[in-house]
Amino acid sequence: MSLLELNHLSTTYPGAKGAVVQAVSDVSLDIEAGEVLGVVGESGCGKSTLGRTLLRLVEPSGGQILFDGKDLTGLDRHQMKAIRRDLQVIFQDPFGSLNPRHSVGYIIGEPLVVHGIGDGASQNDRVRELLDLVGLPPDAGRRYPHEFSGGQRQRIAIARALALDPKLLVADEAVSALDVSIQSQIINLIAQLQKRLNLSILFISHDLSVIRHVSDRIAVMYLGRIVEIGPTEAIMNEPRHPYTLALLSAIPRPGVARQKRVVLQGELPDPTNPPMGCAFHTRCPKVMDICHSVRPVLERPAGSTTAGQVACHLYRDHQ
Ligand code: SF4
Ligand code: MG
Repeated sequence: MSLLELNHLSTTYPGAKGAVVQAVSDVSLDIEAGEVLGVVGESGCGKSTLGRTLLRLVEPSGGQILFDGKDLTGLDRHQMKAIRRDLQVIFQDPFGSLNPRHSVGYIIGEPLVVHGIGDGASQNDRVRELLDLVGLPPDAGRRYPHEFSGGQRQRIAIARALALDPKLLVADEAVSALDVSIQSQIINLIAQLQKRLNLSILFISHDLSVIRHVSDRIAVMYLGRIVEIGPTEAIMNEPRHPYTLALLSAIPRPGVARQKRVVLQGELPDPTNPPMGCAFHTRCPKVMDICHSVRPVLERPAGSTTAGQVACHLYRDHQ
C-alpha cells in the first residue's frame, strides 16, 4: 500500500464572470513511504492547488485522497486534525508563514501545544532538538523571525513542520524565494532530513533544476493534468512529452554539451476554457491532426521498457 494515493482528483474554483477554473483535472498518482515525488510545471498549471487539495486546505470537486489507507475526502475538521500530525506543509514565503510576534521557540513548539503532546519541559527539549536538526543554534528559540535571514527562516519553517514527526511533507516552492546559493543549502537540508527521517515528500516547484536534485520521481503538469511521470533519471535523460522537452531545454544538463532551446509559442491557455483534445496542442511543436480533437491518455508508451508514463499521441500505437 502506498502512503498517499490520489485517484482521479479534480479541483475547481470560481473564476471571473461566473467561469469555472479547472485547476486540477483527473490526477491519479501515488507516493511510497520514504519517496520524494517532484511536481513541476509553469505557474498556473495547478501544482500548488494539487498540494493544497491533498492537504484539504482546498476542497476537491471529485476523486479520492487515500492517505495511509484512509480516504481524507470525507473527513470533518476534527478528524482532519488527527491526520495533520502526519501531513505537514512548508510554503514558499518564510515571512508570511511565521508569526512575527512570536518567538522562534514558540513557533516551532506550537504544533506540540495544539496537539497536546508532552508537558512544557519535554516540549522545550523537542524544540532544542528540532533547532539542532535544521542547523540553527540553541539560542535561536529565544529570538524572533525578523532577526533571521530568508534561508534561516525557511529552516525555522521546516523545524515547525517536523515537530509532530510527520510521514508526508508537502513542500510548495519551498526554496523559490531564496537566493540561488541559499537554495542549494536548503535543498541539501531537505534531502538530508528526508533520508534521516524516511520522510515522503511532495516537492512542488516550477524549476526542474531544483526538483531533479531531491526527487526519486518527477510528475510534469500542464493545465491541471499530469502529462508525463517517471523516475527522475528517465525524465532527465529520456524525456518524451514535448512539454517536458521544452522545460528541460531551458536548464543546463550534465553530459548534454549543447542543446537547442525549445521556446514555446504563445501563452498558457485560459484554464476556464482549456483547449480540446491535447491541452498542449496550441503550443506544441509536434502537433498533429488528432491532437486537436482527442485527449491523449497518460500511459506507458508502446514498447517502452521503463516505468514512465506519458500523455501524448506521438507514443501511441495507432494501427
Ligand atoms: Fe503535442 Fe499532440 Fe503530443 Fe499533445 S498529443 S503533446 S499536441 S504531439
Ligand atoms: Mg504555485
